[in-house]
Amino acid sequence: MKKIILVTGGSRGIGAAIAQRAADAGYAVCISYLSNQSAADALVASINVKGGTAIAVRSDVAVDADVVRLFEQIDQTLGPITALVNNAGILEQQSRVDEMTAERVARIFATNVIGSFSCAREAIRRMSTRHGGSGGGIVNMSSRAARLGAAGEYVDYAASKAAIDTFTIGLAKEVAAEGIRVNAISPGLIYTDIHASGGEPGRVDRLQDSVPMKRGGSADEVARAVMWLLSEDASYVTGTNVDVSGGR
Ligand code: NAP
Repeated sequence: MKKIILVTGGSRGIGAAIAQRAADAGYAVCISYLSNQSAADALVASINVKGGTAIAVRSDVAVDADVVRLFEQIDQTLGPITALVNNAGILEQQSRVDEMTAERVARIFATNVIGSFSCAREAIRRMSTRHGGSGGGIVNMSSRAARLGAAGEYVDYAASKAAIDTFTIGLAKEVAAEGIRVNAISPGLIYTDIHASGGEPGRVDRLQDSVPMKRGGSADEVARAVMWLLSEDASYVTGTNVDVSGGR
């Protein structure tokens, strides 16, 4: 069976590392992104030049019509999807809960939680044996913040990732008998641009002493765990949550 993967938010950071690994593992890859087309195009070119197959689609996971169009484009260009990584995620400027507007909290949940539900819905309609599909795998990108809380930084983000943890448990049970395994990864402090969107580009370096392994992680270290969960080596693994956090 042809392996076809969608990595949402696959143009930069952890998503880009997953897309690279997936291409190396023989997947035809679709990455989605929000606005940075040049990063998406560069990644697609680097996969295709090595003999892989990759496409990039601009699609906001927080907009349901965008998600529907994204999956239709994958159907038409690559074929029926066999793996989904719900990776797209955002956080905003570090602040306390008593400073957060309702609009901000809604934005965080729309992308991090509702976007993952929308993509899972479209993936299941294609993968599930209940819908005539041949099965597949879903990996949801959570965060250690879900259990640490991100006090004084972004409790809204942490709470959205806690929702992803529960989503993973429930969805895994719902589709387990339909050929689909659903798992989550909880990265710790990983070197990507996301910390700059919180207003502190050097956050990983500041906090690395709090990590038992005394260092931040790389996007590729997260990607390798994702690829394991999607692989046949994890054939009896569903509903679990793997910390990739150096012990933090
Ligand atoms: P990042 O470097 O900021 O990259 C974010 C990616 O998501 C970009 O490709 C971006 O596209 C895309 N994106 C943002 N909003 C989107 C939307 N509404 N629709 C579609 N795509 C969207 O982030 P990262 O650090 O790699 O994080 C990836 C995931 O890991 C997130 O879910 C994050 O919460 C989680 N995580 C990260 C860390 C960490 O320390 N880095 C730790 C725990 C969990 P553009 O290029 O167009 O902006």
